[in-house]
This record gives sequence, C-alpha cells and structure tokens, in this order.
Amino acid sequence: MDKASASLEGTAIYDCLVVGGGPCGLTVARKVAEKGFSVAVVEEHGEIGLPLHCAGLVSCYGARELGIPSHCILNRVRGARIYSPGVEVLEVCREEDVAVVVDRERLDKYFAKLAERCGAQIFLGCKIEDLAVKEATVSCLAAQGETLEARVVADAEGAVSRAAERFLGKAVAKEVLPGFQVEVEAAVDDDFVEVYLGEKWAPRFFAWLIPCGGGVARVGLACEGDTRQFLGKLLEKHPVVRRHRLGKVLKSFGGFVVVGGPLKRTVFERIILVGDAGGFVKPTTGGGLVYGVLTSKMAGEVIAGFLEGVSKLEDFEQLWRQSYEQEFKEMKRLRRILVSLSDKELNKVLHYIIEERLAEWISRTGDMDFQAKLISTLLRRPRLSLLLAKAVLKGALPF
Ligand SMILES: Cc1cc2nc3c(=O)[nH]c(=O)nc-3n(C[C@H](O)[C@H](O)[C@H](O)COP(=O)(O)OP(=O)(O)OC[C@H]3O[C@@H](n4cnc5c(N)ncnc54)[C@H](O)[C@@H]3O)c2cc1C
Repeated sequence: MDKASASLEGTAIYDCLVVGGGPCGLTVARKVAEKGFSVAVVEEHGEIGLPLHCAGLVSCYGARELGIPSHCILNRVRGARIYSPGVEVLEVCREEDVAVVVDRERLDKYFAKLAERCGAQIFLGCKIEDLAVKEATVSCLAAQGETLEARVVADAEGAVSRAAERFLGKAVAKEVLPGFQVEVEAAVDDDFVEVYLGEKWAPRFFAWLIPCGGGVARVGLACEGDTRQFLGKLLEKHPVVRRHRLGKVLKSFGGFVVVGGPLKRTVFERIILVGDAGGFVKPTTGGGLVYGVLTSKMAGEVIAGFLEGVSKLEDFEQLWRQSYEQEFKEMKRLRRILVSLSDKELNKVLHYIIEERLAEWISRTGDMDFQAKLISTLLRRPRLSLLLAKAVLKGALPF
C-alpha cells in the first residue's frame, strides 16, 4: 500500500477508481483487477480497517459467501435473546452455530491483501472531495489538489458518501441513524447475542450485546438522538445489561447505520454506488457486510464487462434487483411497522410470539440474511396483524 501524496502525481487514466477502502470497495477492486484492468483504491485514512465502526456480526452463510478466513473470526454464536421494552425475552437459537463475530480490522486488511494480489493499487491518506463525469472518464478531485482520472468510478465511501453527494446531490443521500458502541470486559454467555428493544433505550432502532469471546463483548446501539447518552443509560440502567456486571471499557467507536435500504438509483453514467454508499444494508438490523459484499461482487463483474465492452453499467441495477429487491422490500416493511409501534404495542407483539410458542418455528425457519419469507408469513397471522393494527392504519401494510 502506498502513501498517496507522491505516488498519485502524474498517474495515467485508471480503468477503475474505487473511492473508499472498506470491504465493499476492496471487493469491487479485486473483481475488476483480477480481469487484468488497472484499478486504484483511494482511502482517506492512513490504515485500512481503521477507525473501526462495526459490531462484526455476520451469519455463517455470509461468512462462507464472503470467504471470511478463520483468523478473522473471534467467536461463533448459536442464537439471540431479544428483550422487549418490558424485558420479556424471546430466545431464538439452533443446535449449530448461526453467526460469527469478526475482527473487522483484520478482515478489511485481508480483503486489501486479496485486492493487491490481483493487481489493485491502494493509496492511503487520500480523500476524494468531488467527482465530475466527462465524456470518456470521471475526474476525481483529491483533497491534496491532484485530479485522478478513471474510466469508471465505484463509490464505496460508506454510509455518508460526501464526494458522491457533492456531485450527485440528494439522489444519493441515504436514511441513516448514528450508532455508538463500546468494547468491554464481560463474562457473558458467548453463545448468544442480545438485542434490547424500546424507545427508552434506543428510539427508532435497538441496542445490542455481541460476545466476542475471551471475556470481551461489544455493547452498542443505533438510535435517534444522542447515542453516547443513550448508551451510557443502557449500561447503567437496563436491568439485563446491569445484571451482566460489565467491566472496563476497552474501546469505543461510532458510525452511521444505513436503515433506508438501497438507493432508488445506484448507477449514474460512469459512477456506480456500492456497499453502504448504495444503501445495501439490511433495514431491520443495520447489517451491511453480507449484502454489501455480495452486491459489490456483482458490481465488480459488471464494471469488468463494461471495460471489456460487453455490458452496460446499468446492468448492475438489474442484477441486484433480481436477486435482492424483494428481500429489501420486506425488510423495509417490517422496519416501518416496528418504528410505528409504541413500547406498549411492542411488548404485546413479543408477548404474543412467546405465548404462541413461535420461537421454535422462528429458530427453524428464520434466516439472518433472507428475512422476507419469515416476515410475510408472520404478518399473515391474524392475531398478530390485529396487534399491528396501528401500523395498518398508518398504511404500512398492504392489507
Ligand atoms: C455501529 C455499527 C455497527 C455495525 N455492525 C454491523 C454488524 O454487526 N454486521 C454487519 O454486517 N454490519 C454492521 N455494520 C455495517 C457495516 O459496518 C457496513 O455495512 C460496512 O462497513 C460497509 O462497508 P463499506 O465498504 O460499504 O463501507 P465502509 O466500511 O464504511 O468503508 C468506507 C471507506 O471509505 C473511506 N472513505 C469515505 N469517504 C472517502 C473519500 N471521500 N475519499 C477516500 N476515502 C473515503 C472511509 O474512510 C472508509 O474506510 C455496522 C455499522 C455501524 C455504524
């Protein structure tokens, strides 16, 4: 990896320039570079993988599809305990592992190594400020004053894509919530993640505890409002979190969680938006690694096809929609319903699911990544839809 300043001067036109050295940008870079095209990845920070802004939970399916190696895996979990605002617990689990907790810094560095092995050049400490589409290239203006030229730009800036927004405006603005997380010493059950619901703890989203193994856990939340204050309150006052008697805070970090799903449009002439920048994040959970990387692979293949002259960049829209649009629609529907419920209503919904003994069915049929089937089946249950009447009245449900 090169420090940007000297090495960017006088560079030729790249076939593809990737703005952002996160997992999605690096995936695009690898896919395009492995076809023999010249690729530059420009990352504003001095080191790949830092600063950290992720809880690192990925389904086992996702871990396999993304090729996450064992040295990046800190822990494996079998299920989740979901606490209602009234602290009733719904436990969903399997005999086998369902998810892994990853070391994001290591994972990003691993993805960078793979991209470099395929020939991509990574420039660190270089921030792209603005983009401009010309006839046959895109100009990328770096903060240092240089202009980089590329035939295609993959914007992988993350949840807040400033350079793309400066050039493309509101069309690429996303619905995001601030998140904040601490890594703490903790003697918790390493087999289960925990989710804490309720306006009091994390309005419009939720709080979580993710065991990393080795006596460490990540406790965090995303919500509307002051995330640090809400996290402080959760750590001090939530009855379940307090029972864990968490120890010293080892690290703390923040970031933005995309909750509105993919952008209406993800390709603009020679610019393609991938990962969080394109909104490829599950609106129900804020998890962006699996969909982000899977769709970035598609984007990389489409870009390579475009450079070879055999496909259009717009093919990317069609590809991701074919595979995942329905999933995103259902997850957005569930999120709309959940945020429209008061704590009292949420208590009733969780109580119903527990009372009807649906936990076992959810454990068997539920899927962390592909949630559409479970959501639509659940929402068809008559008593549940009655409980969700408020959301129905607000027009969130089509019946
Ligand atoms: C608190 C929190 C917890 C999360 N937990 C999970 C989880 O448990 N599981 C999960 O799957 N997902 C989780 N996510 C989401 C996940 O982190 C993202 O979906 C994922 O990182 C997206 O990858 P990306 O490559 O699109 O963007 P990022 O990882 O955000 O990478 C973008 C990169 O671009 C760089 N950059 C930005 N602008 C510029 C510029 N103009 N010029 C140069 N470089 C630039 C940034 O420095 C950054 O390195 C969480 C997010 C947050 C905030």
